[in-house]
Amino acid sequence: MKFILQDHKLKLAASTDPDSKPIIALTQIPQPETNPSYSFSQNLQHFLQGRMLLHDELPFPKEQLHEHYENGYIHYKKGISIEKGKSKCTRCGNSSRHQFAAFPCARCGERECLYCRQCIIMGRVSSCTPLLTWTGPQIQRKESVPLKWEGTLSEGQAHASKKVTEAIKVNGELLVWAVCGAGKTEVLFAGIEEALTQGKRVCIATPRTDVVLELSPRLQAVFPDIKVAALYGGSEDRNENSVLTISTTHQLFRFRGAFDTIIIDEVDAFPYSADVSLQRAAQNARKKVSSLIYLSATPNEKWQNECKRGTRPFVTIPGRYHRHPLPVPELKWCGNWEKTLKRRKLPRIVEVWITKRLADQTPALLFLPKIELMEKLLPYMKNFDARIEAVHAEDPQRKEKVQRMRNKETPLLVTTTILERGVTFPGVDVAVLGAEDRIFTESALVQISGRAGRSASQPNGNITFFHYGKTNAMNKACRQINGMNKEAFEKGLIDYVLPGMRS
Ligand SMILES: [Zn+2]
Ligand SMILES: [Zn+2]
Repeated sequence: MKFILQDHKLKLAASTDPDSKPIIALTQIPQPETNPSYSFSQNLQHFLQGRMLLHDELPFPKEQLHEHYENGYIHYKKGISIEKGKSKCTRCGNSSRHQFAAFPCARCGERECLYCRQCIIMGRVSSCTPLLTWTGPQIQRKESVPLKWEGTLSEGQAHASKKVTEAIKVNGELLVWAVCGAGKTEVLFAGIEEALTQGKRVCIATPRTDVVLELSPRLQAVFPDIKVAALYGGSEDRNENSVLTISTTHQLFRFRGAFDTIIIDEVDAFPYSADVSLQRAAQNARKKVSSLIYLSATPNEKWQNECKRGTRPFVTIPGRYHRHPLPVPELKWCGNWEKTLKRRKLPRIVEVWITKRLADQTPALLFLPKIELMEKLLPYMKNFDARIEAVHAEDPQRKEKVQRMRNKETPLLVTTTILERGVTFPGVDVAVLGAEDRIFTESALVQISGRAGRSASQPNGNITFFHYGKTNAMNKACRQINGMNKEAFEKGLIDYVLPGMRS
């Protein structure tokens, strides 16, 4: 697609027209004044408001969209702009040269049309593709959206819930630092109700699709009067412009100034924590005046320090919902386990740990730092019990294996860090073999430990870090868990302390 600049307006033009230019080549993009007597499409308003989309993502004819532009209701942005001689993708913010490529483009007829490789999965942004935003009137909505939830909050949850609601009211920022198993979702209910009733749009963004799938039905159940939109790669709700959206952080690239409240779940989790473009996407998806709530069980060191120094507003939920303390990891030296594994064997101390779990019929998770090691080890492990399985991120059987573990058909599951978050297996014992590996950061170890003792009926799990040399991360993880237990006890959120608890 190409344009011609004429009488301070853009005109649509055929790519064969010698005067036409791809949008990147235009020196300016004039924005016509809003024509108040124009009868704009309310469907389009509903669809596009708060978003930034490609023509391909809009189920409206190009001519209709352009008419809205001519009347000041739509703005065209360059999909790729040139800033100081460097290409920059407007959607994802990518500006590194190797993340762009050129292709012979049928739309603009150019032999070398540049496109962004970084966000290609969401549809191609290229030199000739405009990104469209809505500049017409905003839909105003004000009706109460009652929360229908019968449950009760723990003391720790209730305190955090109040803080969340306050932050949403005043468009503030807040980190909710809640231990694994504190029940963080319920903490959001009152704040979301407040926001929706004020006519605000809310988005819960999470790095993982699994979480979108788990949260959406829960929120739909407690807010039955609205339609909750669930957005992830390939989701059917993509066209839904709901007042409550649950989205992967990736999908935020499609929004601009849309939300009055953004809640970012697992802010410390990959890929969000490591990807500046995703963090920028979250900022771009907010309105200028809006609230931002972060959830984490394991904020990174920088954030922890900011909390300590008082420069980051936060609230902790140091105790679990069931009022039992968090199990504290035991550190056990197991010698050069990698060498032992090469002989397709396990350190004796680890074998004892496994045999005991199998004999007691206690479900167990064994974390390993590398997939290759896991695959090498599995045949040997099956000598203990043929039902033992191993799972990793690229495993096509991943879901089924996790389900078999849930059904207690698998007595012990060997895993990489993919199961460090989000999964609950009641009564599970947890061990890490090679806890000194770099992959096991403080936050990974706290998350892994957080798998144990989750259910009220079996609140005491065992966690063992088998290692060949203690690391800082291991010590810090233990300190963080002990610290939370201590704080929870002092605040009366748990009923007892563990014997020998260090502080
Ligand atoms: Zn891009
Ligand atoms: Zn092109």
